[in-house]
Amino acid sequence: MADSCLFCKIIQGKIPAQKVYEDEHVLAFHDIHPQAPTHVLVIPKTHWATLDDVTPDDKNLLGHLLERTAHVARMLALGNAGYRTIINTKSHGGQEVFHIHIHILGGRPLGRMVV
Ligand code: 5GP
Ligand code: ZN
Repeated sequence: MADSCLFCKIIQGKIPAQKVYEDEHVLAFHDIHPQAPTHVLVIPKTHWATLDDVTPDDKNLLGHLLERTAHVARMLALGNAGYRTIINTKSHGGQEVFHIHIHILGGRPLGRMVV
């Protein structure tokens, strides 16, 4: 855990969040500024600042994070129509919160991805 990290504070319950899924290793909660009808963030309970910080030792937890992301999307009834997942990394990636997170966006057609 990182003391100054917003998402670590959410994991610790110091900042409230609208949780949709939690287990020993990951937490999913609604984004505070949704960009689609459904916009959920899935985070590991381990503090990795960015995708650039993961190492081969993190493969199991990363796999769990991605598999649980699909599970959460199905829980939110996004599985059939589909959805978009995004990981923003560092400044060129537009990352604002430096605790790795997977965005799940869905609930309407999102069109072709534009950059
Ligand atoms: P990033 O740009 O780092 O990929 O995405 C960070 C996301 O975190 C943004 O979509 C933003 O709306 C969301 N966010 C920022 N602060 C909070 C917060 O306090 N609570 C929740 N639930 N989401 C937040
Ligand atoms: Zn953190």
